[in-house]
Amino acid sequence: MSGKATSIRSVVCFSAVTDSALDASRTRAQTRVMTEIFTGSFTQQDPIPEAAIEAAVAVLRHGRLHRYNVIDGEAGEVALLEQEFASQVGAKYCLAVASGGYAITTALRALGVKSGDKVLTNAFTLAPVPGAIAAVGGRPVYVDVTEALTIDLDDLAAKVDQADVLLLSHMRGHLCDMERLIEICNAANVKVVEDCAHTMGAAWNGVASGRWGVVGCYSCQTYKHINSGEGGLLVTDDPEIAARATMLSGSYMLFERHLAGPDAEVYAQIKYETPNISGRMDNLRAAILRPQLQDLQTQVERWNARYHTLEAGLRNVPGLTLTERPAQESIVGSSIQFLLLDWSAEKVDEVLTRCGARGVDLKWFGVPEPVAFTSRYDSWRYAEPQSLPQSDRILAGVVDMRVPLTFSLDDCKLIARIIREEVSVVFQKA
Ligand SMILES: *Cc1c(COP(=O)(O)O)cnc(C)c1O
Repeated sequence: MSGKATSIRSVVCFSAVTDSALDASRTRAQTRVMTEIFTGSFTQQDPIPEAAIEAAVAVLRHGRLHRYNVIDGEAGEVALLEQEFASQVGAKYCLAVASGGYAITTALRALGVKSGDKVLTNAFTLAPVPGAIAAVGGRPVYVDVTEALTIDLDDLAAKVDQADVLLLSHMRGHLCDMERLIEICNAANVKVVEDCAHTMGAAWNGVASGRWGVVGCYSCQTYKHINSGEGGLLVTDDPEIAARATMLSGSYMLFERHLAGPDAEVYAQIKYETPNISGRMDNLRAAILRPQLQDLQTQVERWNARYHTLEAGLRNVPGLTLTERPAQESIVGSSIQFLLLDWSAEKVDEVLTRCGARGVDLKWFGVPEPVAFTSRYDSWRYAEPQSLPQSDRILAGVVDMRVPLTFSLDDCKLIARIIREEVSVVFQKA
């Protein structure tokens, strides 16, 4: 299942193909060298599988797109998706919603986070995470990141008394020591919401990510592990949280149509006390997702084959630190990170420019101005400013790359060679 190989353009060229300004040491006359260039796309997904297209067309033909618009005897695609996902991760309850960010916001609301409350979260994460805290009027308290790119559990232990909830982001798929994290949070009576936007299909010690905390939240957005454009899933074993989340999502009094929800009596009070903050999923998206969920394990294996190929190609490069993955972690290698730890900003920037010129699109979390999806805790200026020198040092060196399934294993080898060469050239400069 290595996919189709992207054509490799080997060109005889002058160093100007990279950037002559960056390469003053080589003169044009000397440098007729073979330079490999990668020509694939870092943002091209796999197509939607045929079974999903057929299911979507069936929904379009009958026209009942709203999740509660069902005929006698029909469960509806959304209710079936919830039932299937709950069983896949071993959760009692599942609710499908409009986005991953909405799932997180709903989890925080269902846990009772109110305006002005502090919420612990990762300093290294993406904008929708502090954004979900801000959506409920909460105030993020950032916890440091380690060189393994996971939440720093010593820093968490030091800060855990400041809040009642930890919004834990498994950023870029890195899982921390979950036993120790839960121990720290339980001892302080802190509830954990897991942001599994990058870990659908991943596990720690055999327990699925999203099943360690009180609530697990997933995204079905195009850049995650199953793709309906937009969409989110929330799982929990707590019937009251499930009932509140369902009412919040906009169930009106139709909650009994859910196949993966709590019994009607759980709603007795909750249905009067919980506002409707519409964010339902529709049957069209659910129809697209259900066949993809069946294929998830196969896709995980395809991602990991690519990840491990890249990882092998990036080993033993002086100056480049790979994040070693602990044995307890079952990963989904949909992206890869490495550290250029304690490099100057100019040199990291030079590596990115040189790789970019050869078609390898790297992202850098140390960039002073946020670009595309990468922003940093100090870019989220609606939150109180916080000082995290340890995180600053690590973020200044984090280089990040997406691994679309449209890459072949040969593509991954080529990309690793390009990164190796360019990191080595820049590292060797005085
Ligand atoms: C994508 C993402 C989310 C939110 O998902 P959406 O479906 O885009 O709202 C949350 N956390 C992280 C880390 C993400 O990358």
